[in-house]
Amino acid sequence: MSSQPLTVLPWVVRRTRLPLLSLRCVDCRSVTATTGQGRFRVNANGKRLDVWLLVRCVACDRTSKLTVHERAPVRSFDPAVLDGYHANDPELVASTLMDPLLARRNRVTLDWKGAWGLDTEAARRAWSRPEAWPVKVEVVFEDPVPVRPERLIAQGLGLSRNEALRRVKCDTPLRRPRNTGFSFIVTAGHELC
Ligand SMILES: [Zn+2]
Repeated sequence: MSSQPLTVLPWVVRRTRLPLLSLRCVDCRSVTATTGQGRFRVNANGKRLDVWLLVRCVACDRTSKLTVHERAPVRSFDPAVLDGYHANDPELVASTLMDPLLARRNRVTLDWKGAWGLDTEAARRAWSRPEAWPVKVEVVFEDPVPVRPERLIAQGLGLSRNEALRRVKCDTPLRRPRNTGFSFIVTAGHELC
């Protein structure tokens, strides 16, 4: 690592809409479901509550329920969160859907295809200065989108994967999907010749 301070550029990964779910429909055997705008169902049973997140098959519209809470004591709920379930609060729909516990409990996986974007705008503005080379890019995940670093780096740099990999130094496994922040260093093209 050089002692010269590196220019640090931010890349941000964030969702552009809610991801779909891989969930086999019992009617039509399609494997894709959507939360649509997002709707909860809350059912009281004595002093216990069941909470589900409703999803629809994208092929036949059949509704399924994903368990969020099962016979949980009413007292265990934060009143604000409970209000959120009743109001179908969009942020609560998103955080519930992206909670890994929901996927595990209901044996579904999230399908992020086309549901996220990489924002390199701030980085690109700073990058136009030639004296900035080499630069460090810090990738921040605002949403837990699983993506292979090699793919993200190639996309962000606008290069082929091989070309991108030649230009970066990264201490993260590049082929293993991850959904948390990492950083890498980009060396200028002419310095590689
Ligand atoms: Zn269906």
